[in-house]
Order: sequence, then structure tokens, then C-alpha cells
Amino acid sequence: MLHPPSAEQSRITEIFSSLQGEGTRLGERHLFVRFEECHMHCGYCDELGKDAASMHLDEVIETLARLDQEEGPHSFVSLTGGEPLLYLTFLKPLMERLKTRGLRAYLETSGVLWRALAEVLELCDVIAMDMKPSSVTGEPAFENEHARFLELARSRETFVKIVLSKAIDLKEFDRLIGIVEKTAPKTPVILQPLSGVLEGHEDPELMALLDSLQRLALKRVPDVRIVPRLHKILKIR
Ligand code: SF4
Repeated sequence: MLHPPSAEQSRITEIFSSLQGEGTRLGERHLFVRFEECHMHCGYCDELGKDAASMHLDEVIETLARLDQEEGPHSFVSLTGGEPLLYLTFLKPLMERLKTRGLRAYLETSGVLWRALAEVLELCDVIAMDMKPSSVTGEPAFENEHARFLELARSRETFVKIVLSKAIDLKEFDRLIGIVEKTAPKTPVILQPLSGVLEGHEDPELMALLDSLQRLALKRVPDVRIVPRLHKILKIR
């Protein structure tokens, strides 16, 4: 990565208060800490390349405490990116400080860096774990890594999110659902329509595809939900 973090300093794109727009905690009020970089380059990513600044750990904690007082209370501090687990050296002390202040940690991750997850697992209150189909991201497949990641994450409150476009390879989708079925079958699986020019939920063909994928997946695991991005529907950040 371009800017290796220290235990005290890290590159942060933004810190803000908003609604959680994805997943099982949809609609809750969260604080967000967005880390700058990622180990992946998904073809559809709308977060990489944004301006970031170096912030001290104390400054991050002070900003979160102020926002929590001014715009809260908040259900969680969502640690997002980019890929927060790339910033382990900084992330771990940050999560420890959150815990001592009674703020709960929601880790939003690509679901690949399982060794880093092991270092902060006990500090995670919720894990929002992506599974990344290569046929959608244009990146290599990470099926072995997703399986290792979910093996660890299943001890915490975790859900799996799969962002889907019409490019999805059905066999690949089936293999990803198979990983959930084999590793932690009760884990909620969120099918999220990919947004392009249109927001995903505005594309009838894509929504029809998700409808059939949901029915396929429900034959193997019990909790599969189609959830579009609420913050985009409400047109808030
Ligand atoms: S894993 Fe997330 S942050 Fe990283 S490139 Fe993909 S969409 Fe962007």
C-alpha cells in the first residue's frame, strides 16, 4: 500500500454520521470511518481515489466522540473503506479505544484478509463480510479466502453481502452460496444489486435476476435477502 499506517497515524478519507444503507443493520444511525486504500480494484468501486488525509488516532477518537454527541447517539462505528483490515496496525488500537468508550464496532470488509481478521475478531461487534464474485468484480476469485474468513467470522454477529450484476456466473454464485452452506449456514446472505448509471434496484432485468438467485440460494441456506442501498434510494450520503 502507498501509505503504511502506524499505530498512531493513518490515512482516512472521511469520518461522518449517517444512516447505515446496507445489510442487516439497514436504517440504523452509524458513525463511519472510511480508510483510504484497498487491496482490490473491483470494476464498479466508487470509493477508491477519493482525497484522504493523515489523521492521528487521538484526532479520530475526538472526532467520533464529538459527532456522537452532536449527531447521535449511534448504534455502531462502521469501519469501512477501502479495506480497513489493510490498516491493522492502526485499526486494532482504534477498536480497543472504541470499546473503552462504549462504542460498538461494525467492520465492513471484502472478506478476504482472514489473518488480519483473526487479530481483531474479539473486538468486532458486527462483521459485514463481502463475498466477491470474480465474474462481477473483474478481479481474481477469493473463494478459499472467503471460506477461511467466514470460519472465523461466524463466532461474531456476521452477515455475507454479495454485490451482483447481470455478469454473474451462475456456477460461481452457486459455489459462493455453497461456502456459506458448508461453513456457517445460518449466516444471513444479502444480495445487493450493483449500481451503474442506474441504481441497481431501478433496473428491472437485474431485479428479476436477483429474484431468481434468491430462490436458488434459499434451496441451500435459510436466510437470503435482497437489499438495495437505502442511502441511494433516500439520496443521502
Ligand atoms: S473491495 Fe470494496 S473498497 Fe475495495 S475495490 Fe472492491 S468495492 Fe472498492
